[in-house]
Amino acid sequence: KAKEQGKGNACLYADWMEQEYRTRISQEADLRRGIADGEIVVAYQPVVDIGSGLVVSSEALVRWAHPTRGLVMPGEFIPAAERTDLMERLGELVLRIACRDAVTWEPAIQVNVNLSPRQLRSGQFLQILAETLEESGLPPRRLAIEVTETLLLDGTERTLEQLRGIRALGVNLILDDFGSGYSSLSYLHDIDVDGIKIDASFTRKLPSRKVAAIYRMVARLALDLNIYVVAEGVEEPEQLDWLRKNGIQFAQGYLLGRPLQTPPARHAEYLS
Ligand code: C2E
Ligand code: MG
Ligand code: MG
Ligand code: MG
Repeated sequence: KAKEQGKGNACLYADWMEQEYRTRISQEADLRRGIADGEIVVAYQPVVDIGSGLVVSSEALVRWAHPTRGLVMPGEFIPAAERTDLMERLGELVLRIACRDAVTWEPAIQVNVNLSPRQLRSGQFLQILAETLEESGLPPRRLAIEVTETLLLDGTERTLEQLRGIRALGVNLILDDFGSGYSSLSYLHDIDVDGIKIDASFTRKLPSRKVAAIYRMVARLALDLNIYVVAEGVEEPEQLDWLRKNGIQFAQGYLLGRPLQTPPARHAEYLS
């Protein structure tokens, strides 16, 4: 009897696997179709200079304008794309759209584009980056590439070479989601970055004493290394007050502006 039951479970498991596999394949095919049909759009979220209230840059955030599912957020399709070569195509597309858009912005602020580790795999990213800059006419100084710590921690020499190549083109490099993983600033020996973004999970807990101490330490370290700091996920006026009092230069979050599919505004409403 136990044997029959075991066999039954194995069958169910196989069915489940099969179903999972089919769902995955159809999701990938749908995304491939969406990319080809021009359904990928980019929203921009402002990064604000806390002192002056001016928008200094804007982060490009991908969305999928799906014909039946509506506007799909990156959390729902980036993981699937990252399992395949689709992430390279998607990343390249976002980069092209962001550069093409940013070149028209007035005033001429910087655009920040996220980079998936997958995009560095083929070794073609630097060439794509140089071509995109050339085609769009966007000066390299007006572009920043955001990479996560995971990428730096797993950093093989090949990865580091490409990251150095980004800066060698004159493009800015930003360390994203700082503090969300196994953080260590030790990799800054190997690679120079222009800015770091402190993860929203920290900002959310401000001004609690412990988190405030960590924030101050990171900000001090960054200052000594000549790296600017951006606070991510600022939602409350009290958080912004704390950041201002503690000399944090830049902030990004719903309080200052949500991601929108329109050009970034010159001034943050809240501060002006
Ligand atoms: P991220 O790079 O850390 O981007 C910030 C995310 O936080 C965005 O979510 C943004 O909408 C959200 N956010 C901003 N301010 C607030 C706030 O005050 N409160 C809260 N709760 N959230 C806030 P989004 O657009 O859903 O993107 C999520 C993640 O997906 C991004 O995190 C990034 O890792 C990834 N992503 C988005 N676009 C791209 C892309 O073009 N390429 C790659 N490789 N990854 C992307
Ligand atoms: Mg980012
Ligand atoms: Mg981030
Ligand atoms: Mg984050």
